[in-house]
Amino acid sequence: MSISAVAGKLAALLLPQDCLLCGDGAGAELLCAECQADLPRLPGEGCPRCAQPSPGGAVCGACLRHPPAFDATRAAFRYGFPVDRLVQLLKFGHRLPVADFLARSMLAAGRPAGDCLVPVPLSRRRLAERGFNQALEIARRLARETGLPLMPRACLRSLDTPPQSALPWKARRANVRRAFECQADFSGRSVILVDDVMTSGATLDELATVVRLHGASGVTCWVAARAVRGEPAA
Ligand SMILES: [Zn+2]
Ligand SMILES: [Zn+2]
Repeated sequence: MSISAVAGKLAALLLPQDCLLCGDGAGAELLCAECQADLPRLPGEGCPRCAQPSPGGAVCGACLRHPPAFDATRAAFRYGFPVDRLVQLLKFGHRLPVADFLARSMLAAGRPAGDCLVPVPLSRRRLAERGFNQALEIARRLARETGLPLMPRACLRSLDTPPQSALPWKARRANVRRAFECQADFSGRSVILVDDVMTSGATLDELATVVRLHGASGVTCWVAARAVRGEPAA
């Protein structure tokens, strides 16, 4: 651990912080215990491919009709209030400790099988605007904790497409088609794609298609939050 990381940990212990969501005392944590317990979770039974709620944990109708290019999805939270607010604080408020919190929550929810971590890339323009890629910030922390190799430059987002959030779910697939380029050879490797939020799944499906074309033997999505189809936050 670097000196600045140690100093940061000490400061957190010596200077208790306010909960990022409600402002109450949160000790050395980002959120107070109550806010943490109230974060929305996915129901216990979900589709193993896409993590949408599914009775009995069966593969859902959407995945049966149009099997995605990824094999499995693991998510820590259900995307909705106030997880959406946490993600906004990370992306637009540059609150990087949120990336630590999300990564720890993802690890607590269970590490998926796989050989390497590939964060969903941002386009060059979006990266310049924001200054960092939130998926990479989360993946960096996951790599540190799991020891899995991080491959931040394996894939590029060559097309600068409009944000998926601006489009209805049905239009999202077309929006990200051919958005990615890949420069790595994943032959024989099982790839874990990392992102902050999975909404329709179209972006991850497109990236999974590309890494498979580059040899990946398996693809799993590992995300902080999963939107549930038909819910307003999605
Ligand atoms: Zn709180
Ligand atoms: Zn599914």
